[in-house]
Amino acid sequence: MSQALPPLIYHPCYSELALPERHRYPIGKYRALQQALLAIGVPAAHFTEAPAALPADLSCIHASHYVEALCSGTLDAKAMRRIGFPWSEQLISRSLQSIGGTLHTAELALAQGLAVHLSGGYHHAFHDFGSGFCLFNDLAFTAKTLKQRGVGPVLIFDLDVHQGDGTALLLANEPEIITASIHCEKNFPARKQHSDWDIGVATNCSEHEYLETVQQSLDSLLTWYRPELVLYDAGVDVHKNDDLGLLSISTATIAQRDQLVLESCRAKHIPVAAVIGGGYQRDLAALTAVHLQLFKAAFNVFGSSLGREIKT
Ligand SMILES: [Zn+2]
Repeated sequence: MSQALPPLIYHPCYSELALPERHRYPIGKYRALQQALLAIGVPAAHFTEAPAALPADLSCIHASHYVEALCSGTLDAKAMRRIGFPWSEQLISRSLQSIGGTLHTAELALAQGLAVHLSGGYHHAFHDFGSGFCLFNDLAFTAKTLKQRGVGPVLIFDLDVHQGDGTALLLANEPEIITASIHCEKNFPARKQHSDWDIGVATNCSEHEYLETVQQSLDSLLTWYRPELVLYDAGVDVHKNDDLGLLSISTATIAQRDQLVLESCRAKHIPVAAVIGGGYQRDLAALTAVHLQLFKAAFNVFGSSLGREIKT
């Protein structure tokens, strides 16, 4: 067995959040995913814990009054309902940890060519409000932080079934950060924002058409912008069994999608920081099996034989 594995960023607090029974968010998926990776032979010591982001760090994308109200638990009830989680200390700490996790994933990707975060993709968080289970926008935060350090251009390639609306608006005036979203037009949010590249596919989009759209979009974006880093949101809520997504994409096609994204970047020597993004199924084993496709692709592209242990 080859021991060459891409860095994997994880923290146990990702799944540590008490939610009301029957809450639709599958909060246990992060732990389930790590356990599935341990089960196929990823050493426990291989998982990296990132430093949590500090509330003050978020001022590069979020209004300080919003961050302060969220962190102190004084955000009003309506704004919390828009986010979709009840407020708790756990919610804030796991969110700050996830933001730090995506930034660290990008740092490790820049150093090693590829890194994968077992969280991330909170693309519905805006400047002064959150929505759709997103408090702080890890993708926008990471791209802006890297830009301040002189890294760029950065391409955010978002394949979650929901449009990356928060990311698009937060980065609308950042020419060195390219936002791209391929999503289902009929899915949330009803009111879409303008990314630099948007394709809203129809609910009856065939798997072949979906893969062609992804491949052609990525080829064009990599050629036009020559990014120094790709932040890849590998959301699996495009899956046919997803509780929220309206597309009908199979696990095998998600496997092909993730493989083609990572391979296309690898062929052009562009580092990729991947996040798992959305995925909503009450059956955690079934959901984990779909999220694992990103890791299969990452292991394959990184030259590790462990990818073969993951079923498509
Ligand atoms: Zn989503």
